[in-house]
Amino acid sequence: MPIDATLAYDDQNIFAKILRGEIPCNKVYEDEWALAFHDIAPQAPVHVLVVPKGAYVSWDDFAAKASAEEIAGFVRAIGHIARENGLVEPGYRVLANVGAHGGQEVPHLHVHLFGGRPLGPMIA
Ligand code: C5P
Repeated sequence: MPIDATLAYDDQNIFAKILRGEIPCNKVYEDEWALAFHDIAPQAPVHVLVVPKGAYVSWDDFAAKASAEEIAGFVRAIGHIARENGLVEPGYRVLANVGAHGGQEVPHLHVHLFGGRPLGPMIA
């Protein structure tokens, strides 16, 4: 069920529990700014979720409230994961769903990193 991305942060959401280590994940990468793990329902040969460590509901919330250091750290982590997984050549896709119209289901910001096959045109 898509969420209302304007709601206050709920620290009982599933990605908050994963970040606290209360629920396991299939970890791909972790640093000071981000945790990345394989999506449980992959839609491509590589389907990784990259989650910032800070408490942000959505990309919009992150853009409005995160420090420049947090944003840089998160974006660099995404690039690092793409490189480490051999995705830079031939390419990959980064996607953030935001709110009800964006189809966001988990109310902690995450980006989807897809790769490992031709992904075709972006379908809205
Ligand atoms: O962007 P959106 O919120 O729609 O995506 C949530 C994603 O989180 C889904 O792709 C879902 O498969 C994934 N998920 C997961 N592990 C969970 C719960 C959801 O990988 N425990």
